[in-house]
Amino acid sequence: ERVGFAVIGLGVIADHFMRGVKQSQRCKITALVSGHRDKAERIAAEYGVPKDSIYSYEDFDRIRDNKTVQAVYVALPNSMHAEYTIRAAKAGKHVFCEKPMALSSAECQQMIDACKTANVKLMIAYRMQYEPLTLKCIEMVRSGKIGDVVAFEGQFGFNIQPGVWRTKKALAGGGSVYDVGIYALQAARMFTGEEPVEIKAVASTVHKNDPRFAEMEESVEWSMRFPSGVVASCASTYGGQMEGFMRVHGVSGTLEMGPTYGYDGVTMRGRAKGEHWEESNPEKDPKQFEREADHFAECVQTGRTPKTPGEEGLRDLTYIEKIYESAGVKL
Ligand code: NAD
Repeated sequence: ERVGFAVIGLGVIADHFMRGVKQSQRCKITALVSGHRDKAERIAAEYGVPKDSIYSYEDFDRIRDNKTVQAVYVALPNSMHAEYTIRAAKAGKHVFCEKPMALSSAECQQMIDACKTANVKLMIAYRMQYEPLTLKCIEMVRSGKIGDVVAFEGQFGFNIQPGVWRTKKALAGGGSVYDVGIYALQAARMFTGEEPVEIKAVASTVHKNDPRFAEMEESVEWSMRFPSGVVASCASTYGGQMEGFMRVHGVSGTLEMGPTYGYDGVTMRGRAKGEHWEESNPEKDPKQFEREADHFAECVQTGRTPKTPGEEGLRDLTYIEKIYESAGVKL
């Protein structure tokens, strides 16, 4: 029996996810939650969702009685993740929630507690932790292919459209670190296998009178020192095309990924000790979404804890708060 998902919020990422689920053997879309009835009915028809399994945000809690729904996928603006995770848990549904997990570490803790109390699974949608080439590169670094790691670099950013929810602090929580810097933060933690013990950050804005940056900084650069002594130097922006990239420097070589963090086209290259590597993952979007949905469905079916549980989202929010605090930006 496939795990039935209710998709909450029918925006850009929900579309990727639903197409991924369509390819999956383990999952199916069984309900939709939207503020736009017309859009929801059109998508429902496409995915074979019955009309009485379309909910509005107001009547969402009725989903408790829908036996076709075992789990929800929270694909809403960041500020709504905590509310809908907690409401879903109270309705007895497992929760697969988009990154960043919430606006603050305090909210993350409330989400974890609510899911624990309701005895439902909670997984955060860290796509790259299910992407095979990324996993292979992590294994190469951790198994010593480039020798002891001495330094890490990572960045991700894009030139944001004016007026979108990501530019509004109340909905986004803060600037680009929440949205895209989190990929470099995750990569630094995954590749070193360590948790940062010291964080220093600088926030800055190039386009000073640009209304896009009225509520938040344009760019953030930050350093994280890990217990081994490795320092990760990271950056994110909403002001320019900063292609997803990361590089690990080891005693005897270098491994880098770029472009990376995207929905497909993930590419690596590296060299050490006379060896040279170069590889791209040929899989196409929405394969990454199928993989993460399948992992969560397997956890729901077997009772296993997801590889990226709420605690993983909480850790990142703790670091994001430290980054902004160090940069002197009030959240
Ligand atoms: P989006 O703007 O395309 O979609 C958001 C959806 O929420 C829309 O359908 C919108 O109608 C709905 N919504 C409900 N209340 C809203 C409100 N008050 N203001 C604005 N929209 C409202 O955004 P998206 O890019 O799909 O992002 C959704 C979430 O997914 C975010 O948390 C984002 O960080 C995350 N995301 C993750 C990835 C990934 O690769 N894992 C990629 C993109 C986005």
